[in-house]
Amino acid sequence: MSREKIVAGNWKMNKNYNGAQDLLHAIVANLSGGGNVKTIIAPPALYLSEFANATENHDNLYIAAQTVSSFDNGAYTGEVSAEMLASINAEYCIVGHSERRAYFKERNADIHQKIEKLLQVGVNPILCIGETLEERENGSYETVLKTQLQEALKGYTAEQLLNTVIAYEPVWAIGTGKTATPETAQETHAFVRKVLGEIVSVAFAEKTSILYGGSCNPANADVLFACPDIDGGLIGGAALKPDDFMKLIQAAKK
Ligand code: PEP
Repeated sequence: MSREKIVAGNWKMNKNYNGAQDLLHAIVANLSGGGNVKTIIAPPALYLSEFANATENHDNLYIAAQTVSSFDNGAYTGEVSAEMLASINAEYCIVGHSERRAYFKERNADIHQKIEKLLQVGVNPILCIGETLEERENGSYETVLKTQLQEALKGYTAEQLLNTVIAYEPVWAIGTGKTATPETAQETHAFVRKVLGEIVSVAFAEKTSILYGGSCNPANADVLFACPDIDGGLIGGAALKPDDFMKLIQAAKK
């Protein structure tokens, strides 16, 4: 069965208001309607509401938040709740990005909680998992990835997780210019899919999109996206360059 192809751009904490507008307009202007690739952009939270309005008539362009609070609405200064995201029609939300894990000390238990909040209001999680260089080199990466998946997804049914997306992002490849080889990426994606089969269901694993992330660019995307278990990419740096981002969408279309 064919899975959804997705190219998602994580803008991180980049672009002031005018720069974000320019980038959005460049993407909208160049997205030739439809195709079989779902395009998602994750701008900074400040711009989400306006971007969700600006893109509501674009069939194949979706808005994602970069993170969400693990709490319900209330006295949590600085936080943005899942209910708020749903109320402005954000369709997706990235959770568990390695930068959130490293700089904001998010643990798998927090990520599980965030997923619960998102599922309650119908915002689709994009769950990021990935091992560090040390974990890759000492051979513990499979255990690390399995634990990240198990602890983030435990207790949720295939039905609840229907539109959840997984992003495999080796930490050593994010923003470093060092990409996983297609062999390493494919082998790891196949492992992730096997684990999803064990902890949710085989049918769920088969139809869930697993994106690759980590220094993905127009020069390496063709081979990566052609791998049988790689269903597109979660893109950082190259998502800030409209020409590169368009090329990545084209690469996923092949
Ligand atoms: C990311 O941060 O999700 C990412 C993949 O970044 P980059 O493409 O810059 O490595």
